[in-house]
Amino acid sequence: MSRLAQTADLTDVQREILSTVRDFVDKEILPVATELEHRDEYPTRIVEGLKELGLFGLMIPEEYGGLGESLLTYALCVEEIARGWMSVSGIVNTHFIVAYMLKQHGTQEQKDTFLPRMAAGEVRGAFSMSEPGLGSDVSAITSKGVREGDEFVLDGQKMWLTNGGTSTLVAVLCRSDEGHPEGTAPHKSMTTFLVEKEPGFGEVRPGLTIPGKIDKMGYKGVDTTELIMHGLRIPANRVLGGTTGRGFYQMMDGVEVGRVNVAARGCGVAQRAFELGVSYAQQRETFGKPIAQHQAIQFKLAEMATKVEAAHAMMVNAARKKDSGERNDLEAGMAKYLASEYCKEVVEDAFRIHGGYGFSKEYEIERLYREAPMLLIGEGTAEIQKMIIGRRLLEEYRFQG
Ligand SMILES: Cc1cc2nc3c(=O)[nH]c(=O)nc-3n(C[C@H](O)[C@H](O)[C@H](O)COP(=O)(O)OP(=O)(O)OC[C@H]3O[C@@H](n4cnc5c(N)ncnc54)[C@H](O)[C@@H]3O)c2cc1C
Repeated sequence: MSRLAQTADLTDVQREILSTVRDFVDKEILPVATELEHRDEYPTRIVEGLKELGLFGLMIPEEYGGLGESLLTYALCVEEIARGWMSVSGIVNTHFIVAYMLKQHGTQEQKDTFLPRMAAGEVRGAFSMSEPGLGSDVSAITSKGVREGDEFVLDGQKMWLTNGGTSTLVAVLCRSDEGHPEGTAPHKSMTTFLVEKEPGFGEVRPGLTIPGKIDKMGYKGVDTTELIMHGLRIPANRVLGGTTGRGFYQMMDGVEVGRVNVAARGCGVAQRAFELGVSYAQQRETFGKPIAQHQAIQFKLAEMATKVEAAHAMMVNAARKKDSGERNDLEAGMAKYLASEYCKEVVEDAFRIHGGYGFSKEYEIERLYREAPMLLIGEGTAEIQKMIIGRRLLEEYRFQG
């Protein structure tokens, strides 16, 4: 058990789940992560292990076969998994967001159809907002869903789908002006469609193509893809929640819990970087003593550990706020922003502590160095987090002149 990133007031069940996940990470993920990452290989065995542990259903209610756990439990598990290999937490994350959106916004029929199979990891989720021309500015979405009788016909191109190839259920955000008068605000004319598909690449269903994996600098192993819809027919009962025009809010709700998740990933990667740095610093000697005995390196370790603690505390605070039923967009934005920036800084410091060896693919820190930047972008960039935080602060601290 590490001294850093402890969480007070956990239940026995939470402690037991976390200890099981940590054990799994130490035995099944860490020993193979770097090798699989270098080969850009999907971690099939690890995913099967996660299924057995019930992690795909961690937050799905027990009535649907899940474990019915809180966002905090989920986030702490993600932190452990990301400490082992960030890509594995990416495999779980989009699934978790889609399951969460179904639980919060789905019709009873949609919940009954998908949640039990999602809890078992048989149906695996991906979510798709981004397009080639937009990521931050979701209101500019151009993909369209047009009603034809009992169906919608979807056209458009989507970009950056985490788990685009391996998933079998994609929540796709499209513009659907059905029933909404001309001039309706962009975010009120969007709909989330639940698109079922075969896993794999190419034409995975008539009208739906997943071209192939995008070649990335890091975050390998997990597949990231485009998605092309050309006359894709979706039954009207696959509109999330049954009513059009609510997609933007549903997606933002999903992204909000996703932000706590990205914060947790930042915490996990930073913890691992600290572990690697503090260990190397005691083994490498220069000028007659371990580099850990040079004050400059000790100061680095002190800064790194302080950042690990601070990020963990903010992430836990954001998760607990959501679990208590309160609005947590301010806390989630702050936690995501701080944890991802600190993660990048802690990884950079651990890399520097490794000297030239940090540049070698033989050392784990090289992988972390390529993985950390993804956290600065996914679920909203730092600038977008600051926009959210700033707006909320002005709401909370309205000038009463
Ligand atoms: C590996 C990976 C996986 C991803 N997975 C998914 C996924 O599963 N589903 C999905 O829908 N998307 C996914 N994304 C997309 C991701 O959400 C977007 O990349 C992200 O939101 C940023 O959008 P963008 O890339 O279009 O950048 P842009 O929006 O073009 O931004 C470019 C730059 O401008 C800044 N900027 C933009 N607007 C403003 C503003 N108003 N003020 C100040 N600065 C601004 C941004 O912060 C950024 O620095 C993924 C991305 C990556 C890299």
